[in-house]
Amino acid sequence: MTTRRKLAAGNWKMNGLAADLAEVTQLAQAHPAPGCDILLCPPATLLDRMSAAARGSAIATGGQDCHARASGAHTGDISAAMLVDAGASHVILGHSERRADHGETSAQVLAKAQAALSAGLCAVVCIGETLDQREAGETLGVIGDQLAGSVPEAVTGDNLVVAYEPVWAIGTGKIPTLEQIGEVHDFLRKDLVARFGETTGNAIRLLYGGSVKPANAAEIFAVANVDGALVGGASLKAADFSPIIAALEASQG
Ligand code: PEP
Repeated sequence: MTTRRKLAAGNWKMNGLAADLAEVTQLAQAHPAPGCDILLCPPATLLDRMSAAARGSAIATGGQDCHARASGAHTGDISAAMLVDAGASHVILGHSERRADHGETSAQVLAKAQAALSAGLCAVVCIGETLDQREAGETLGVIGDQLAGSVPEAVTGDNLVVAYEPVWAIGTGKIPTLEQIGEVHDFLRKDLVARFGETTGNAIRLLYGGSVKPANAAEIFAVANVDGALVGGASLKAADFSPIIAALEASQG
């Protein structure tokens, strides 16, 4: 059986100013030698400073997007190498807010993921269905297509993480049933094994994301093939993220 080290990932989205870096220091002090990996993805303006604040701790940092090109005339965009330069080891790609707000397609996410891998980053690729798609019984088809279309060939358990984030669960306080989460994660695991083989397919970590809170974290982490969480709102404060990390550590066994 493959043992995957679990991952608690925080997505700060468009939140966070210099004063909020105190949360990183608190989190680092609360988890000096965690039994899982910890990742924080702040807005680009804070990445360099957060990486400095986290240096020497167990907290890794990541971007929330990158451009598919290495450099050039792309005003306002950020390359994968720039994220690395700012201390990042990871990048979130294809978050549903980017797919919705910026019209990002799976083909674009794939190109970004290829750029991320080339720069030495681990890509956290997000997929998930809308409420309409779930109610129409299309969930597995939609996420299967997103997975196939967004994930490049050259992936390993070290440079790819997949986050299943039902769009209707993000920031809403609603979560799927544990059976629904389990069904999707089992489907994703089988899909990855079919595409990349037993070793790689079983090494890639699958995160659940969408309204993970201290109160529901333990039950979600007990679901098979849930290797951690991508957490938005509850990652902003150490007081909220820390018990989620503790629940994940406890689930690692
Ligand atoms: C997210 O943005 O990836 C997310 C899961 O947000 P929240 O935890 O706030 O639902």
